[in-house]
Amino acid sequence: MSSHGHPSLPVMEETQSIDLTGDLTGDLPPSVLERRISLAELLDINAFREVCASFVDLYKIGIKLFDVDGTKLVDIRVGNGDWCGYIFQNSVGRQRCTTLVTRIKQFEYPGLADGEVVEQRCFSGLKYILMPINYGGDQLGRVVYGPFLPADVEAPGEEVFAFPDGFEPTRLWAYGDKIRRAPDEMIMKILTNFRGVVDTITFIAMKALMTQQLHLESITASYNDLSASNQKLRESLERLTELDRLKSNFLAMISHELRTPLTSVIGYSEMLLEGMAGDITDEQRDYVGTIKDKGESLLDLIGSLLDMSKIEAGAMNLNLSDIQARPLLEAAQSYVVPQASKKSITLEIETAPDLPTLRADRDKLRQCVINLLGNAVKFTPQAGRITVAADVFVGPRRYSGEEGRFGTPDERFMRIQVRDSGIGIPADKLEKVFSSFYQVDNSVTREYGGTGLGLAIVKRFVEAHRGEVWVESQEGRGTTFSLLFPLELQAALPLTV
Ligand code: ADP
Repeated sequence: MSSHGHPSLPVMEETQSIDLTGDLTGDLPPSVLERRISLAELLDINAFREVCASFVDLYKIGIKLFDVDGTKLVDIRVGNGDWCGYIFQNSVGRQRCTTLVTRIKQFEYPGLADGEVVEQRCFSGLKYILMPINYGGDQLGRVVYGPFLPADVEAPGEEVFAFPDGFEPTRLWAYGDKIRRAPDEMIMKILTNFRGVVDTITFIAMKALMTQQLHLESITASYNDLSASNQKLRESLERLTELDRLKSNFLAMISHELRTPLTSVIGYSEMLLEGMAGDITDEQRDYVGTIKDKGESLLDLIGSLLDMSKIEAGAMNLNLSDIQARPLLEAAQSYVVPQASKKSITLEIETAPDLPTLRADRDKLRQCVINLLGNAVKFTPQAGRITVAADVFVGPRRYSGEEGRFGTPDERFMRIQVRDSGIGIPADKLEKVFSSFYQVDNSVTREYGGTGLGLAIVKRFVEAHRGEVWVESQEGRGTTFSLLFPLELQAALPLTV
């Protein structure tokens, strides 16, 4: 095989090159992705083949497209079938042709910049132009343009005259009529156009692929981050759940162990007060009375702790019966009469006429009202007023309710309210008061006793009845707690808190 230099086209061996890009491509951005992209994954090959086909149709010169590894992606031939077929029939011709084709396929264009091409002459006189397709410094593949007959070629290449077995160079030359004959300048113009199209397609495809890849990579990164945080969260949750379980068990155990001896303390102080162990002086009676009072407060506190731990352990059942509101409110009120009268607080009960009965757990309902009344007395100053009221309330819920199952605008409730004229609760603390162990005044020197469990228990009890609890308050003016127990849907109640 020989290559002949040409004034306007460099030959491959001389590694000269021509810049064909003009203004068509400009500077391409550097490769963002680290791996090498192949043309096959970048291009829609069918669409690209059509673009090539229209060029071939227009200029009657064949186009082949190879991936960077030499895989042929497109091969459209035109006109050279008889010429090449005749050479291939000859033993020497076939051998020369195969060598040339292999060379074209494997050629790597080392150091060839964007827009440069090399010329490859065929021993038979035809010519090919090889054009690399680059992106951001990487070679993605190559285009082989041709063959065509250069305008200055007047006869087949010298070598074919030496072919054996009666090879006829004139017959070969006659086949050349079907092959496009063109001067190099025209070929370069065509190629410049083609290159522009190829670069644009590559550029757009690369941009799309990169955007897609980067998007994918960032999603993958976020996903990995999320998975890691998720795993951490899951572990924390497991630890917390275990701690919570231990805490509940501990509370239940401690409460139980404290309650037994405490009941004895209270029992014995009552016996002392009743004179069962003989007469006692007034001073002794005072002291024993204090022991009994404090013992009872302690017992209440332990009761709350026990309730809360049972609730948290899911071990408390609802024991439903039909309840008349008035007697229940009276019973609850009687619990706070002693403390209220010490502060000259007026206690009132208001019940609407014709109240329906409510299906609920009587003890828990009473406990709720007692807790609210206890707070009302505690947080209402001297000579205040506390009202406990029951009526039927028809309206929407404030909160959507569990799983949004309830919430019709005309749902009917038994509403129980405890209103006081006490110190009130700051607006930003209103929602917090229902949290376990929360107290608006949590300073060491706080004025009011308590555990911060009373309202948490109320909320849990009410919600176990599928009800709602809320609070309205004005600082310095008073507070109203409302408990809403649904009158319908009672059948749907679960029997655990
Ligand atoms: P405790 O009364 O044992 O502290 P609660 O859960 O019953 O716990 O109440 C939590 C907090 O809510 C109280 O410490 C108090 O700050 C506030 N609170 C409850 N009821 C009233 C009320 N009627 N008036 C003013 N503040 C109240």
